[in-house]
Amino acid sequence: MNMTRRKFILSLLGAVGSVGAGFGTFDYVRNMRKIFDSKNFVDGKFRNENPVYEIRKGTLFDTQKRWLTKKNTVPEHKFHFNADAIPEQASADLKVMWTAHSSLFIEIGGKRFFCDPVWSKVLSPVGFGGPKRFFDPPLPVERIPVLDGVIISHDHMDHLDKKITKLLAQRGVPFYVPIGVDYVLKSWGIPEAQIITADWYSTFMAGDVKLTSVPCVHFSGRGIFDRNKALWTSWIIEGKGKKVFFGGDSGFHDGFKEFGEKYGPFDLTFLEIGAYDKNWDRIHLGPEAAVQAHLDLKGRVFMPIHWGAYDLSIHPWDEPVERVITAAEKNNVPLSLPRPGQLLAEKDFVVNSKWWEV
Ligand SMILES: [Zn+2]
Ligand SMILES: [Zn+2]
Repeated sequence: MNMTRRKFILSLLGAVGSVGAGFGTFDYVRNMRKIFDSKNFVDGKFRNENPVYEIRKGTLFDTQKRWLTKKNTVPEHKFHFNADAIPEQASADLKVMWTAHSSLFIEIGGKRFFCDPVWSKVLSPVGFGGPKRFFDPPLPVERIPVLDGVIISHDHMDHLDKKITKLLAQRGVPFYVPIGVDYVLKSWGIPEAQIITADWYSTFMAGDVKLTSVPCVHFSGRGIFDRNKALWTSWIIEGKGKKVFFGGDSGFHDGFKEFGEKYGPFDLTFLEIGAYDKNWDRIHLGPEAAVQAHLDLKGRVFMPIHWGAYDLSIHPWDEPVERVITAAEKNNVPLSLPRPGQLLAEKDFVVNSKWWEV
């Protein structure tokens, strides 16, 4: 098929994806150039550097069977958290607040960022029927301070939340997103001028703070028509001699070692520990592989993320944290396990709040 015709057909597919993703406009058709220019976009889809299965073949019945009989995947206790006050002015120190799942407030080099802010009570394109939050967001929207950027790892519902994204966008905050996610944001009415798109190994400066997008092993899609139409990424954030690694969602890969050598050491790593299963073990880390990834990255303190807020798999809701504690102890890895909404300065990073033990 000649290139023009192929591109046209792919554009149509993309348009369907965009509508599926955001019930939005046909911007997808008009502005797909960056997607086509990415060497990671092959035959109409983004793909992992070394392609992996997303779900192990022939496991549908096994998954359904275990899903229907799963237990303790939601806490019985009704949690409530009130976030610590965030000072009005940013300091030059490294500070962090985990507000549950993969949502993180990070202060670094005098700048303030939010990674994957998700505030929704339910993860669903239609507002109902999806996994429910275990507790309200500890930090009300109006208490989110002035930000220098929102950093998005990929377009999955548990990482890219339409409502909070639109609210933060109204403040004029720039969004750093992997290629393809820009079309979702534009379909929500967010001005193009506020969206900065990253391919793998893109770098950006937010003042003196450097943001680098590096590959991870995952997939994307918010609906049934937009699978892998947008890229997924991990982020390295560095400023004033401090450096952190925000993994987003990723299965284990050799890149962690490479990034450790090339960009490490990291003062803090944020790596996913929840939503694992033996049938999709290539696209999520799980607790033990996350500890190994932290070691490969040459991380100092490890803050586990992607747990404690939504029921996304078959494992008990608090199993990721219990398993990560065991794995970290075995490998002498210092863990940061704050309660949701706890603001940590560097001296407080190593902490075990045991908030889940009630
Ligand atoms: Zn994901
Ligand atoms: Zn996720």
